[in-house]
Amino acid sequence: MRKITLVLSLAMVVTSLFTSCSSSSENYSSYQCPMKCEGSKTYDKAGTCPVCNMDLEGVQSKNNK
Ligand SMILES: [Zn+2]
Repeated sequence: MRKITLVLSLAMVVTSLFTSCSSSSENYSSYQCPMKCEGSKTYDKAGTCPVCNMDLEGVQSKNNK
């Protein structure tokens, strides 16, 4: 009985981690180079930096209209 409870709670923790992770990645409104090659320039789509070719990372803007 105890083992089942442990497995169930573990499964719930893993599920909540998974859902919180996937939902937060959807909230980016803009993307920018992690090395900030172009200063504070941001892109509205994910992609790669034209300067250093690194993957752009999502920026969560705090100024919501
Ligand atoms: Zn760059």
